[in-house]
Amino acid sequence: MYMDNKKYLGHFFIIVGPSGVGKNTLIQKYMKENPNKIIFPVSATTRKKREGKIEGINYYFLSIEEFKEKIKKNEFIEWALVFDNYYGTIEKKVLLSLEKGDLLMKDIDIQGALNLKSKLKDDATCIFISPKSIKDLEKRIRDRGLDEENAIQKRLKDAKKELENSNKFENIIINDTLDKAYEEFKKIINERICLEK
Ligand code: ADP
Ligand code: 5GP
Repeated sequence: MYMDNKKYLGHFFIIVGPSGVGKNTLIQKYMKENPNKIIFPVSATTRKKREGKIEGINYYFLSIEEFKEKIKKNEFIEWALVFDNYYGTIEKKVLLSLEKGDLLMKDIDIQGALNLKSKLKDDATCIFISPKSIKDLEKRIRDRGLDEENAIQKRLKDAKKELENSNKFENIIINDTLDKAYEEFKKIINERICLEK
């Protein structure tokens, strides 16, 4: 049944969906409204640091060699190559946090999310965030202003593939109007937190 495979006191909310769909907007909004309730587990990545991002807060920024060394040492509970960069969730920190009873929330790419869910089972809940349409997503990525044209085209191509896989996830939210999407987001999380108690 629902909670058969629960092993930890805590819970991991895995937020999935194409780049630019609004995953971090929803995560940040929830964290701001619920200070001290949720932990954002810091992942490792080989991608270049963007302006304003802080080592150890947004990511641990590693070289490819450092990242591969950690793969060899089995330090990641999941890792994936996303847009030519490596990303990984650090196993030791996550499991210690879950043992303590922390609630974790992190955006993770689709493959990593499925791997993490298969390991954490009922200790994790996946929420897939979908755009209303690809056109809508394109506008959001362009307005965000972080990507060059070829990166935008690649993100849109990947997004189409990801949307085809959205049915693999237990919860799907369409992020059209932010307020409405956020209400649904909050409901799924709060219901799950109540079940945990
Ligand atoms: P992700 O984390 O999925 O890559 P972001 O949270 O960074 O996406 O959001 C991408 C952009 O879309 C940001 O500029 C954000 O302000 C905007 N955005 C998020 N949700 C909405 C929404 N419902 N309507 C319009 N813009 C949105
Ligand atoms: P960004 O570089 O824009 O922060 O993230 C790019 C992509 O990598 C997003 O889809 C994000 O969800 C994913 N990502 C971030 N951290 C991790 C992680 O630890 N593991 C995996 N598999 N993907 C991640």
